[in-house]
Amino acid sequence: MHHTLIACHECDLLHRVTPLTQGGIARCTRCGALLYRRRRGSIDSCLALTMAGLILFGVANAFPLLAMRVGEDTQQAVLASGVVQLWQQKAYALSALVLMTSILAPLAKLTLFALVLAPLRLGHRPPHWAAGAFRVALGLAPWSMMEVFLLGVMVAMVKLADTADILLGPSLFAFGLLIPVLAWVSASLDPEVVWDRLEVRQ
Ligand SMILES: [Zn+2]
Repeated sequence: MHHTLIACHECDLLHRVTPLTQGGIARCTRCGALLYRRRRGSIDSCLALTMAGLILFGVANAFPLLAMRVGEDTQQAVLASGVVQLWQQKAYALSALVLMTSILAPLAKLTLFALVLAPLRLGHRPPHWAAGAFRVALGLAPWSMMEVFLLGVMVAMVKLADTADILLGPSLFAFGLLIPVLAWVSASLDPEVVWDRLEVRQ
């Protein structure tokens, strides 16, 4: 009888592939890593969402998040303003953390997804670093916390509403859209499809 074998991409333990029901998940019996699941349309939809995410990220960073008006004085804030302000107030660790969670991690995740998925979608041979890049992209997920940042912005807006006029910037709307798109990028992807295409599975 013919069986297909699959090696765990985390610990290399061999498993026999068995058919799954819709939405079923197979995990490694040794380390619990996700081996495969039954889902369809993975690379196409994930790449489309990734490109949408990159455009929204560009808009979210290019335009003001909000503007504050106190009397005659108007101040605009872009996404990176918080990072710069914290740095100037010598809160270096916090500044680096905000930079990482609200800018670098989401950008790196989207960029790496695009670099790995685009060649697969176009039928090109993926670059030799694709498997490493994809592993990093999956590992970045917990570091991407734009929703926490947006929550902080909203709390600040409510608190400042009494003392200043708050004007919402175009970036705030792009930012609000980017958060569900980022979650959707991960949810639409079946990592095993990518491991399989990258020939990590033996
Ligand atoms: Zn394993």
